[in-house]
Amino acid sequence: MDPHDVAQGLSNVRARIDAAARRAGREPASITLVAVSKTKPASAIEAAFREGQRVFGENYAQELVEKSGALAHLAGLEWHFVGRLQSNKAKLVAGIATMVHAVDSEKLARALGRHAEPRPSPLDVLVEVNVGGESSKGGVAPDDVPALLSAIESTPGLRLRGLMSIPPHTESAEGARPFHRALRSLRDANGGEARLPILSMGMTDDLEVAIEEGATMVRVGTAIFGARGVRGSVG
Ligand SMILES: *Cc1c(COP(=O)(O)O)cnc(C)c1O
Repeated sequence: MDPHDVAQGLSNVRARIDAAARRAGREPASITLVAVSKTKPASAIEAAFREGQRVFGENYAQELVEKSGALAHLAGLEWHFVGRLQSNKAKLVAGIATMVHAVDSEKLARALGRHAEPRPSPLDVLVEVNVGGESSKGGVAPDDVPALLSAIESTPGLRLRGLMSIPPHTESAEGARPFHRALRSLRDANGGEARLPILSMGMTDDLEVAIEEGATMVRVGTAIFGARGVRGSVG
């Protein structure tokens, strides 16, 4: 995808976010767009950066290390780690990312906290909830959310910021609505916005529905950068 296409994709996504927010009676600026750049080359990230995008999401620790190194000259660029993370990669990620979206165990939280402690500011974390009860996906069961929230709050180096989910694949965006609503209910039942200001939910296919249900962060890859190849293409 050439830089022009990235600019166009980004502008389409911004228009979708704006329209959805207005329909829902929400302030568009209250929704943060995370541009998910996994498998896409550094040049595509630079193209989005030139259009004013500042927050980028990556899924693989090694890819994050490589791209953050290649793009270290872009002042103000922020990396979010949105993928599943093994504790043994916590050190790499805690040294680069400003936020980790998919914390789903106390073990991972402890590892991140330990490696985040030398940072000047705490590492922001979200708890991933397995809203669809799918064994193939990460995330904690809704019943286990309260204990993990407390564990994170008592872990030095971390700052608890909210909840994140990847709903089951459904034929239509509307199918994701009950799962987004469930994440918001969990937020409301566990301290509400004061304790959990961020709801990271909604991707290319369902970002409108997610915004209607209260998303404050949407993670969008395909609609900005184009389809991802099955393999290869890491630049
Ligand atoms: C890849 C990915 C996205 C982006 O998905 P698209 O459908 O391409 O917008 C969002 N969140 C996570 C956790 C991802 O892995």
